[in-house]
Amino acid sequence: MSSPKTHAAAAEEFLKDEARTLWHDETLWHVRQKRDTAAQKLPEWETLRNQASQIKDYVLSHLDELLVQFEKNALANGVEVLWAKDGKEHNEHVYRILQENHVKKLVKSKSILTEECGLNHFLEEKGYDVVDTDLGERIIQFNHQVPSHIVMPAIHLKKKEIGEIFHKHLGTKEGADDPGYLTEAARIHLREKFIQANAAITGVNFGIAETGGFVVCTNEGNADMGTHLADIHIACMGIEKLIPRAADLGVFLRLLARSATGQSITNYSSHFHRPSPGKKMYLILVDNGRTTQLGREDFRNSLKCIRCGACMNTCPIYRRSSGFSYGSTVPGPIGSILSPGIDLNKYSTLPFASTLCGSCSEVCPVKINIHEQLYKWRQVIAKEGNPQLAKKWSMKLAGKVLGNPAWYNFMGKTARTMLKITPDSLIYSKVNAWGKKRDLPEVPKESFKEWYQKNRKNE
Ligand code: SF4
Repeated sequence: MSSPKTHAAAAEEFLKDEARTLWHDETLWHVRQKRDTAAQKLPEWETLRNQASQIKDYVLSHLDELLVQFEKNALANGVEVLWAKDGKEHNEHVYRILQENHVKKLVKSKSILTEECGLNHFLEEKGYDVVDTDLGERIIQFNHQVPSHIVMPAIHLKKKEIGEIFHKHLGTKEGADDPGYLTEAARIHLREKFIQANAAITGVNFGIAETGGFVVCTNEGNADMGTHLADIHIACMGIEKLIPRAADLGVFLRLLARSATGQSITNYSSHFHRPSPGKKMYLILVDNGRTTQLGREDFRNSLKCIRCGACMNTCPIYRRSSGFSYGSTVPGPIGSILSPGIDLNKYSTLPFASTLCGSCSEVCPVKINIHEQLYKWRQVIAKEGNPQLAKKWSMKLAGKVLGNPAWYNFMGKTARTMLKITPDSLIYSKVNAWGKKRDLPEVPKESFKEWYQKNRKNE
C-alpha cells in the first residue's frame, strides 16, 4: 500500500507558483481583516462567543436527547427523517429518495457534508447529473476540482481563470473576466437548471431541536431557489449541527457571517419547517464518525464547529499552502483535528501543518481550542500513529541532545564549526529543506553560555 501524500509534499505543488501563493495569502488575510472589523463593531462580541461555546457544550453533552426531540418535532411537521451511520448509507438514502420520486434532474446547494460523503461522485455513477448551484462550487465543478475552502470553494482561482472556464463551459466571450458579466452568465445558466430540477439537495447550518425546523444560510439565495421550485427537498445534516432552541439561533447567525466574510448577516438565512402542500421534505441525519469523535475527550469539542472558515483565513500555513494541500474535505486547522479522527494513517501529517501560533483558536466564534487539539493529536500520532520516520528519529535525537547539557554543548560547538566549513552549495541544496527558502544567520563565534561565563557570571 502506498503511503498517503504528506501535507508538505502536497503544499510543495501549490508553492511552485509563487505569484499565486502570495495572492492567495493576501486575499485570505484581507478576509480575516474584514472579520476583525466586523467583530470589533460589536461590543458584545466576546459575550456572544462565550454564549455560543456554552450552547454547543450543552448540545454535545445532551446530543442523544436533543436528537430524539428534533426528530419527533420534525416528524410532527410532516418531514420524513432518515438516519445514516456513514457516508455510504447517506448516499443510498438520497439515491432511494430520487428513485422513489422518479427524479430526473436535481440541483444542490453548498453542503460540506455531501462532499464528505462523496455524494456527487456516487450519484454521477448512478447516471445523475448533479448541478451545484453555489457559484464557487459550480466553477470548481466545471473545473473538475474539489473545494479548496469551505466558505469560498474557488478561492484558489483568479478571475482570468474563471473567465476561461466560463468561456469553455458557458460560451462567454473569450478573454472576458469581468465579474459582473461572468456572474450574469452563471445566473442565466443556473436559472435554467433550477427550472428543470425535480429535486433540490441542501445542507443544514442549524437544526433546532425545540421546533424540528432547520436553517440554511447562503449568500446567493440558491438554496431557496432550488427548494422553492422543486417538489422534493432533501436536507443533509451532520448530527452535531443541532441547537436546542430557536432563541439560540440569533447568537450563531450573528457570529457566523461576521466570522466567515465580515458581513453582518448572511444574505439568506432561510428557515424550513415543513413541506409546502403537495411537496415532500426529507431530512437525513448523518453520523459518519461524529459519535466516535464525541467519545474522544480531548477532541470532542471540535464538533462545536459551525464551519465559518475563519480559522483557515487566519492560518499562516493554510494561506500559503491552500486547501488542496490538506487532502481532506475540511482543510485548515479545524480539518487537521477532524480528519485524523476519521483516518489516522491517511491524515497523520495534518496536525503538524501548523505553527501552533493559536490564531485559529483566537478567531473561532465557538471557542474551540484548535491549537491545543493539534498539539494533542501530535502526541497521539507520536505514540500510536504513523509519524514520518525522519521526524520520529530527529525528534528522538533532539530529545537526547536537549536533555543532556554535555551533549548540548558538544553539538552546539560541532554545528558552529561545521556550518563555517560546509560549502553553500550543500547548505542551500535540495538535501537541506531549511535552506531552500531562507538564508542561515551568520554563525556566532561562541554560544550564549560561553559568552555569559566570560562576561557576566561574576557580576
Ligand atoms: S473551527 Fe471555529 S473558526 Fe474554524 S471553521 Fe469551525 S467555527 Fe469557524
